Amino acid sequence: MITIKNEDSINKMKKAGYIVAKVLVSLKEMIEPGISLKELDSFAEKMIRQMGAVPSFKGYGGFPGSICASVNEEVIHGIPGKRRLKEGEIISIDAGAFIDGFHGDSAFTAAVGKISEDKQRLIDITEASFYEGLKMAKAGNHLGDISHSIEKKVLAAGFSVVKEFVGHGIGRELHEDPAVPNYGPPGRGVKLQSGMTLAIEPMVNMGTESILILDDGWTVVTKDKQPSAHYEHTILITDEEPVILTKGDWFD
Ligand code: MG
Ligand code: MG
Repeated sequence: MITIKNEDSINKMKKAGYIVAKVLVSLKEMIEPGISLKELDSFAEKMIRQMGAVPSFKGYGGFPGSICASVNEEVIHGIPGKRRLKEGEIISIDAGAFIDGFHGDSAFTAAVGKISEDKQRLIDITEASFYEGLKMAKAGNHLGDISHSIEKKVLAAGFSVVKEFVGHGIGRELHEDPAVPNYGPPGRGVKLQSGMTLAIEPMVNMGTESILILDDGWTVVTKDKQPSAHYEHTILITDEEPVILTKGDWFD
């Protein structure tokens, strides 16, 4: 079911989004060679709880962490274990927070120390593709307009879009309808309405779009072991410009 949020729900989602954004900003500053994924996860859980929220991901479907930490060829759902980051790697961190009955969900990909130009371009295009999609996130447009704009940006750069995993509606549940694919024709899918809240999240591979799931049951990796990047915000559809809810300055 697609839910339309009222003013009160939107304010609560801003609060959840604010917490996620603050946590991600702090995590981004901690990324450097030598730090372990577990350390990042512990920090995130502590900070989310200190801000009065609960980590959305912890225990979700049995997921063991409060963040997803996906390194290099890992696309999404990386388990934050003992692995330590190394110079030249890229890492995507995805976090969610639940407070006052609502979720926020956001992710970014960042460099560990100095990275190759190729990897930096992958990160930049992934982020840019999110903003291309966001431009189309307006009441009256169709969901497919967002999907198509993301795909177009990614393909023009010579990268590929992951198809098995997609963005989603979000609100009282972490994952609500509609599914928000990062590919497909424009002008199709549900008509966007003011008050819809969506997690738009391009997952972009440097090489083939094919993916595999590792034996841990969670970690999604590229089939060709080439790097992958991920970028996500929770956004609100309005009759005018879309609003990014997972932003750090709502309550500053
Ligand atoms: Mg996420
Ligand atoms: Mg999401």
